[in-house]
Amino acid sequence: MQKKAFKSNNSFNGRKKWNNGPRNRNTSNNRNGKSAEKLGVSKYIRKATNISTPKEYIPVNQFLDFEISTQLKNNILARGYVKPTPIQDQAIPAILQGKDILGIANTGTGKTASFLIPLIDKVLKNENEKVLIIAPTRELVLQIVDELSAFSKSLNIHSAVCIGGSNMFKQIQTLKRNPSFVAGTPGRLKDLINRRCLNLSKFTNIVLDEVDRMLDMGFIHDIKHLISLLPQKRQSLFFSATVSRETDILIKDFLNNPTKISVKSGDTPENVDQDIVRVEDKSKKIESLHNLLIKEEFKKVLIFGKTKRGVEHLSNSLHARGFKVGSIHGNKSQAQREKTLKLFKTNYLQTLVATDVAARGLDIMDITHVINYDLPATYDDYIHRIGRTGRANKAGKALTFI
Ligand code: AMP
Repeated sequence: MQKKAFKSNNSFNGRKKWNNGPRNRNTSNNRNGKSAEKLGVSKYIRKATNISTPKEYIPVNQFLDFEISTQLKNNILARGYVKPTPIQDQAIPAILQGKDILGIANTGTGKTASFLIPLIDKVLKNENEKVLIIAPTRELVLQIVDELSAFSKSLNIHSAVCIGGSNMFKQIQTLKRNPSFVAGTPGRLKDLINRRCLNLSKFTNIVLDEVDRMLDMGFIHDIKHLISLLPQKRQSLFFSATVSRETDILIKDFLNNPTKISVKSGDTPENVDQDIVRVEDKSKKIESLHNLLIKEEFKKVLIFGKTKRGVEHLSNSLHARGFKVGSIHGNKSQAQREKTLKLFKTNYLQTLVATDVAARGLDIMDITHVINYDLPATYDDYIHRIGRTGRANKAGKALTFI
């Protein structure tokens, strides 16, 4: 990990400031500013409370017990999964029985394998079965397809990825091979349907992943449209971290007497030490960040910025200061995003600067710090951001610049 960034000539000591915190200090110039700031700031300060190791989950089923193909069982073991997680333990038998599922679960619970394993087996048993998987972001689709590839090794199962920002011609070619699995984001799937390159009338299985996020991102009409093109007789599996009123309507309209499975992952904000970094002069903000990043413990840092331009600018500034940094945001091509993510995952980059949308659904297990360089738009966004650290019951740190 590189640590030889320029030495700052600024005497500000990031750690000291943030530890002393804002409790007895206020920098606003007017009274109204003061009280508003006090109220807002306190939300970003909290000690981690729950980093104890959770009780070991004892599953009812073992992977070997499931009535699925032997090669599929071998692939699960080869992936290093020894026993089912709670959602896999409950969802796999129900999906194998042909039931619709509502999984209340977020990233980190093992939900991806909980739908992929039984669906791969279903396709193996009947080659006419086709599966459509819809997820909110390109990154999430790629993660799902990575897992699908690992599980379907030597099983001769074809899949197509249909996401924006990637070569449409290649996707059309892959679709022509009549793949059993099609995974994509709503916009690109719709595009391909409009071009008559994808026909959903034979897709007897649908997975909606991160339904709540897709609704947040305004995909409700696209999703309803895509589902309307599926056959009436089908198996539908919906996964969502939360169930809002809008999600509930979608569930009632499109799921048939679903088995509801609710699991909590170890990835809760309770694992995350939250504090603020108070910067009194805007021009010193980058110095404060610099002084944090050169500290030994800032090993793998995800920084959030508000705008694409701001993120790019910050990434360039940090690069110029000698940090190993990359950025992901909506103006980057899919290939660039994938490359940067890989470099970050494999610890070649110490720091990743991202916008909220680009960071949705990222599955990177060992992020040591999340830094909110710009304030999140909502508290929900904040919780989502800091959930990228403190995962799998490890401690994480979140710092918010004020
Ligand atoms: P997901 O919630 O599907 O995004 O999965 C979160 C992480 O848990 C991924 O890195 C998976 O590879 C991993 N995982 C899923 N199921 C298991 C399992 N049964 N045993 C060990 N790791 C798992």
